[in-house]
Amino acid sequence: MTPILPGATLGVMGGGQLGRMFVHAAQRMGYFTAVLDPDEGSPAGRVSHHHVRSDYVDEIGLAELSGYSDAITTEFENVPAAALARLADHRPVAPAASAVAIAQDRAQEKAHFTRCGVPCAPYAVITGEDALAGIGDELFPGILKTARLGYDGKGQARVATRADLRPAWESLRRADCVLEKMLPLAFECSVVVARGADGVMVHLPVQRNLHRNGILAVTEVHEQCVPPVPGLRAIEAAKAIAEGLDYVGVLCIEFFGLADGSLVVNEMAPRPHNSGHWSIEGADVSQFELQVRTLARLPLVQPRQHSPAVMLNLLGDLWFREGATGAQTPDWASVLCLPGTHLHLYGKAEARPGRKMGHLTLTGPTPPSVRETALDAAQRLGIAPF
Ligand code: ATP
Ligand code: MG
Repeated sequence: MTPILPGATLGVMGGGQLGRMFVHAAQRMGYFTAVLDPDEGSPAGRVSHHHVRSDYVDEIGLAELSGYSDAITTEFENVPAAALARLADHRPVAPAASAVAIAQDRAQEKAHFTRCGVPCAPYAVITGEDALAGIGDELFPGILKTARLGYDGKGQARVATRADLRPAWESLRRADCVLEKMLPLAFECSVVVARGADGVMVHLPVQRNLHRNGILAVTEVHEQCVPPVPGLRAIEAAKAIAEGLDYVGVLCIEFFGLADGSLVVNEMAPRPHNSGHWSIEGADVSQFELQVRTLARLPLVQPRQHSPAVMLNLLGDLWFREGATGAQTPDWASVLCLPGTHLHLYGKAEARPGRKMGHLTLTGPTPPSVRETALDAAQRLGIAPF
């Protein structure tokens, strides 16, 4: 397969922070970039050579993007699969629309996990009123999730008992949903895999994730951040899931580790993931370079983590300190004076609670030292300890 060499233009659907870091990685390697995003001030649009400001299904916008681009990828999973299929008529597109379509739908996603022999939490699919009565008692207490368009814990409702199910479903506007059994989590982790068009697969080490209010707050990556047996199983499962999709590109799989030592898969994202951001400074190949390489059909080599790493998400909440009026920029200097801190801000104009504004990666010589510095940085910024 002929590689698409630097000097060519790589296109990306979506202009969020993931697109911005993809653009940075592509430009570093000598590519030109094109971003399609309707927002004038989108994080990736602002740093790309070309920015097509159009809707994701606009024929003219899609034609403009494919006119600029030698190959096209996506940075968010809710890009209409039909738009990717349309682009693929003219240019190489990775990941494929068919894989993205599965990741967009929790019911299809879970069916795929099961096909690949990877267990997920017990669940039922709800596609209409009639399904409610047939739900088994074993799924309570549960968590009701819309099948499509959920992210950062949005589109979810806790359902303690059967009596709560109908009101919860109504609150999600009777959308197609899955009801999942609430599991006692010992830890959460994720694995980023990259698979080339030639079937070669590499992965980043297992990442331990802490969520708060349904949003990723902290990722830690070092030996023993996850118990060894479920850790190995997560890597094997992630590879099987990518293989089963005949996937090309970067794929992140999220898992739940349970108290009894077992591991279940939660969901997948057909793109780089927030939990893989540490790899920019903590590994010799980042998840964004992996995305460039898979898209451009360049060789994949197994990334090597050279430093233990901790990533702290910088949510808009940090701009609103107690006692202050309005949004105040956090005191970045107070954390940049610590060793091994790497500040990423996504260039979003307005801070809002829960909005991902940036992240701070900490690298250090040993897991305890990097943890200690990360806890110090968290305290200085007003992030709760972990
Ligand atoms: P993302 O931003 O990762 O796309 P999301 O909105 O798709 O988030 P999930 O990953 O399904 O949401 O859930 C968010 C978090 O809620 C999980 O990381 C976990 O902490 C908790 N959670 C979800 N499902 C369960 C479950 N079945 N049992 C226990 N906790 C759960
Ligand atoms: Mg999730």
